[in-house]
Amino acid sequence: MTPKEHDMNRREFIRRLGFGSASALTLMAMGPLSALANSVSQPTHPAGSGAPLPPADGQTDIKMTYRRQNGSGENISLLGFGMMRLPREQAEVDRLVDYAIAHGVNYFDTAPMYGGGRNEAVTGQTLSRYPRDKYYVATKLSNQGQQLWPFERSKEMYENSFRQLRVDYIDYYLLHSIGGGSDSIENLKGRFINNGMLEFLLKEREAGRIRHLGFSYHGDVKAFDWLLDHNDQYHWDFVQIQMNYLDWRHAGGGRRRADADAEYLYGKLEKLGIQCVIMEPIRGGGLARVNEDIEKQLRAVHPDDSPATWGFRWVGSHPNVLTTLSGMNRMEHLEENVRTFSPLQPCTDAENELLARIADQMAGFPTIGCTTCGYCMPCPYGVDIPGNFAFYNEAVTNKMLPLPETTAADYAQRKDAFIKAYRDAISAEKRATTCVDCGQCLPKCPQSIRIPNQMSRIVELARKRRA
Ligand code: SF4
Ligand code: SF4
Repeated sequence: MTPKEHDMNRREFIRRLGFGSASALTLMAMGPLSALANSVSQPTHPAGSGAPLPPADGQTDIKMTYRRQNGSGENISLLGFGMMRLPREQAEVDRLVDYAIAHGVNYFDTAPMYGGGRNEAVTGQTLSRYPRDKYYVATKLSNQGQQLWPFERSKEMYENSFRQLRVDYIDYYLLHSIGGGSDSIENLKGRFINNGMLEFLLKEREAGRIRHLGFSYHGDVKAFDWLLDHNDQYHWDFVQIQMNYLDWRHAGGGRRRADADAEYLYGKLEKLGIQCVIMEPIRGGGLARVNEDIEKQLRAVHPDDSPATWGFRWVGSHPNVLTTLSGMNRMEHLEENVRTFSPLQPCTDAENELLARIADQMAGFPTIGCTTCGYCMPCPYGVDIPGNFAFYNEAVTNKMLPLPETTAADYAQRKDAFIKAYRDAISAEKRATTCVDCGQCLPKCPQSIRIPNQMSRIVELARKRRA
């Protein structure tokens, strides 16, 4: 690399940091996908019954792809709106939601813990401008934490969701983030079973206040298996899993041994006839910002399609996917996603093979499997955990990491560039050096990342060379 090229890459690297997050990029080989069974385009209207929605932008020709929910027959848009990362201003949220609904999106996913506890209220505010039968809303029982919640406290969270969302029934209700903790089955039983909460929710489903009951899974697969092994008792209507072409065969970039690959999770659910809601389809943005070599390979096939479009198409091509959640906080992302799913063009065998080859190329990247979800925040000592990991992953993706195996001159140059870019991107009080290894973030991370250990790695990389 010439110094000029190196400088260009560094500038591009810093510029790209402005987009925020990045994450692990390791891929896998994957088999050809079957045809899109159970897919429909253009239902009579977006939410199943009643008059068509008023167009927000004059467009009435909805081309969105829908999937039928087994059992209820509801038509769910294959693109779902993940509300976790919304803009601050309610007017901007309304603008995004209006565009989404006008273009056929009808599934909105929130949780009590998102947005510092405000996300359900913002979601309720924006959706309540529409008739109740024009959208489906999903929320969760986010009763995770270091202490187990007694029944009354969990029930209060459940009841508060109705108030915040301004609804008298919840379409899709989830036990939030199953699989965490050092003993995931004990954790699961403590949160939902021993305190009687799951029994209560099953009765709420019978009473019609919950239309569909499911759970979202992250982490240790034992709890996932346990819940599905008890499906005769619980009759799960859907399950939310993390699935993308990276996690298909390399959960957590292949570095979290307790986790199951998405191929296993999806396969097990498909066999049981339980539809999947997909989270992290582009892995917190990591599959949207691939390196130049990989982007070139993708653009050679579809010059106008972004890497994100490839990621969404790959997920949507799986017939047992009910909806694909995307956290869209910018209009251009929403517009692009609507185009991708209106209607979805399933990946061909050749495209899957290309992704498989790309997967092999990316498999060894030493990235950190952070999806920038922010569950670990705030750090009591002020570390910007997702920001540090996003920076590190961008450095890996853009080949800017100072690795000892490079030549001495190149190493020195990379090291200096890395340190300068790091200091420019992250203010001193938020850097990895501030981490005191208190461990408070560890049980909150759904990706089971050893956060303080990874902070130490970044500290080492950002340490000035001795003269
Ligand atoms: S271990 Fe480090 S990053 Fe995690 S909460 Fe403690 S100080 Fe913050
Ligand atoms: S909880 Fe884990 S995945 Fe989420 S931002 Fe923190 S480190 Fe990243």
